[in-house]
Amino acid sequence: MTTTEHYDVVIIGSGVGGGSVALQLAGSDARVLVLERGPTLPREAQNWDPEAVFCDERYRCSETWYADGKPFNPGMFYFVGGHTKFYGTAMFRFREQDFDELNHAGGVSPAWPIKYADLEPWYGQAEKIFGVRGQAGVDPTEPFRSSEFTHGPVPHEPLLLDIEKRLQAQGLQPFPMPSAIDSGSGGRCQRCANCDAFPCKVDAKGDAEIKLIQPATQSTNVELRSGVRVERLITDESGQRVIAVEVVEGKNKYKINADLFVLSAGAINSAALLLRSANTKHSRGLANSSDVVGRYYMTHNTSALMAVHPFKINTTRFPKTLAVHDFYFGDESSSYDKPLGSLQLLGKIREPMLRQPLSYAPKFVRTALANRSVDWYAQSEDLPRKDSRISLRDDGSINMSWQRSNMAAHKRWVNKCKKILRKTGYPIVLAKSFGTEVVSHQCGTVRFGDDPTNSALDVHCKAWDHDNLYVVDTSFFPSSAAVNPALTLAAQALRVGRHIRENVLS
Ligand SMILES: Cc1cc2nc3c(=O)[nH]c(=O)nc-3n(C[C@H](O)[C@H](O)[C@H](O)COP(=O)(O)OP(=O)(O)OC[C@H]3O[C@@H](n4cnc5c(N)ncnc54)[C@H](O)[C@@H]3O)c2cc1C
Ligand code: SF4
Repeated sequence: MTTTEHYDVVIIGSGVGGGSVALQLAGSDARVLVLERGPTLPREAQNWDPEAVFCDERYRCSETWYADGKPFNPGMFYFVGGHTKFYGTAMFRFREQDFDELNHAGGVSPAWPIKYADLEPWYGQAEKIFGVRGQAGVDPTEPFRSSEFTHGPVPHEPLLLDIEKRLQAQGLQPFPMPSAIDSGSGGRCQRCANCDAFPCKVDAKGDAEIKLIQPATQSTNVELRSGVRVERLITDESGQRVIAVEVVEGKNKYKINADLFVLSAGAINSAALLLRSANTKHSRGLANSSDVVGRYYMTHNTSALMAVHPFKINTTRFPKTLAVHDFYFGDESSSYDKPLGSLQLLGKIREPMLRQPLSYAPKFVRTALANRSVDWYAQSEDLPRKDSRISLRDDGSINMSWQRSNMAAHKRWVNKCKKILRKTGYPIVLAKSFGTEVVSHQCGTVRFGDDPTNSALDVHCKAWDHDNLYVVDTSFFPSSAAVNPALTLAAQALRVGRHIRENVLS
């Protein structure tokens, strides 16, 4: 196998984690190579076609993973920019208390080794970089902030303005959801009615390709190589330093050397890569003397809710503008003092998206439902469990053993949301929880911490076991909170990128 190249830094993965570190290293003296297994996502008519995206699964990976031995095709998307090419653009900060130990109905959510205050300035930077639109001071659980949103919130469309009033009439404090889209005067967003789970044909979504990778590669010191899959990380004989990655590009297999490696392949693939890179010095896999790699897998407990009014057609084109956090930490009205979760508007559900879950219903019923529904997303915290685990099968493929946690709280939250939504004047509320194949909010599999015996990474996401390996994607999360992960990942990745630039490379 040939080894012809040497870089100062190799970054594996071009999502939020890898892209943020690349952006922080842009313009430095370091030669940086970003390796991405997927191609650049084509801008084409099918980007906004629900039939192509949901029925033909045009962009979904073709891999087979296993859930406790049972084969399935995971909701993974391999492109430059990673999962943000498809994300719903909801960009929340975690709450201050999310960084502390928090008692839930289903157990304890552990404290992070850093506090909200450590990330606060980086949250502000991340919001600026991603162009997050929002309004401070209206989310009842919002943490303190030292910088304002640079753009006001995306305005509600008429039907949602009406729902906002109906939520307020219940004594609730609905607020505009912080969202990373380039809308408003002069903005590129066309309110295309297909955003959450669709790529943006006009580059108006604040995704990692547009906001991180493209600006980073404007600097001559950062190079992106797409279509290159990293197979293994290779250490020196001592096992202390990673010296190279083994990659596959088309039919070619080769090695690339570097002084420093940043693994940002996404929580599941990063864990799998570390396990796959086991060698005589590290028989359990790299960065894994604590035996936590692959463990503590979390992905939020989530349900989609369709609030249906038989006579009201929903013509909203950008629905993700409203959220409710009044019950994030509990429900005083029923003396329930354990966290419940977040209620947010979801991207508009269309008939093709209902074909699989409502395959028994005739098409006209699915169409009627989709045209009349206001679609919501109830999200609660999934707690880290040691036996909730990514592991490798004998043939090297991925096995997931997701041990759902805290489901009593989630069920309670879904029931509460149904009541709230019925009171907004929608008599029918249908709910469906997401299953194992939905890995959108995957996290926790290479957790950071203070203690090398029960964490894989230190507070700067450096592997305790290796001098020059950082793991920077949602795998570092020790808990999942109940808000969406991308902004918190971006904040920590910017922090780590700055640390590498100022304290490690200089
Ligand atoms: C449909 C959908 C909607 C979502 N909506 C939201 C939302 O509204 N708000 C929010 O906060 N979050 C949302 N998320 C989650 C959010 O997108 C992710 O948390 C975030 O993008 C994760 O970034 P990452 O860098 O950890 O991983 P990824 O985005 O997965 O990036 C990892 C990259 O590494 C590449 N890669 C993997 N393996 C290899 C390898 N072996 N060699 C080379 N490259 C490799 C992948 O192709 C990918 O580009 C959503 C996700 C999905 C799928
Ligand atoms: S709603 Fe706007 S940002 Fe979202 S995909 Fe459509 S055009 Fe792009």
